[in-house]
Amino acid sequence: MQFMSLIATPIPILSDNYAWLLRDAASGAIGIVDPAEAAPIVAAIEAAGGRLDLILLTHHHADHVAATDAIRDRYGCPVAGAAADAHRLPRLDHALRDGEHIALGSAHAEVIETPGHTRGHIAYRFAADGILLCGDTLFSLGCGRLLEGSAMEMFASLRRLAALPGETLICCGHEYSTSNARFALHVDPHNAALQARAAAITALRAAGKPTLPAKLDEELAANPFLRASNEAHFAELRAQKDRF
Ligand code: ZN
Ligand code: FE
Repeated sequence: MQFMSLIATPIPILSDNYAWLLRDAASGAIGIVDPAEAAPIVAAIEAAGGRLDLILLTHHHADHVAATDAIRDRYGCPVAGAAADAHRLPRLDHALRDGEHIALGSAHAEVIETPGHTRGHIAYRFAADGILLCGDTLFSLGCGRLLEGSAMEMFASLRRLAALPGETLICCGHEYSTSNARFALHVDPHNAALQARAAAITALRAAGKPTLPAKLDEELAANPFLRASNEAHFAELRAQKDRF
């Protein structure tokens, strides 16, 4: 059995976004994913010991990057993001492409390019720790809107994420699970795994808790966008959700 050293904790920011605090237990290194609001992120970093070693960005939207320069200036840490979108991201110290690796202490992430929501969207996979930071590509019971990419691109991106090990923890950029569950139940009302996940989401939100991370195997059983059998079916679902 592998030693799982990295812990990912959601930090609620803005109205329904999550930044993520990553802590590598072996080295004490701390990373932040998608810092879009300074105050709650600084509070989380200070509560974790007051050091920051790395900022990871998934895509260029303001609700994921807006406080990057403020957090970088305060802690003096490097920033990593997609080489493909370097021209419209905050200044990058590590401009990353598909298959490249980035280290956080003793933990290592592989970059997975996931175009669809935006052209240069990337996800970070810490394989040894079973953690996937996937921004606005895959949500619990949903997926990101096609703002810059085609249905074909997003379908291919989701297929790549769906092929990861089932125990992978999905750490995404928004708390959209409640509204996603409503749509998922509308299109797949008799799916018992979906009904169970929707009930769990309702209970977590009633208790004021995040519904994330989600487990990939549970998403594969319940998320209609992962269960779409082909690209045309996926495109139709995505269009239907946009109107829902
Ligand atoms: Zn976005
Ligand atoms: Fe977003």
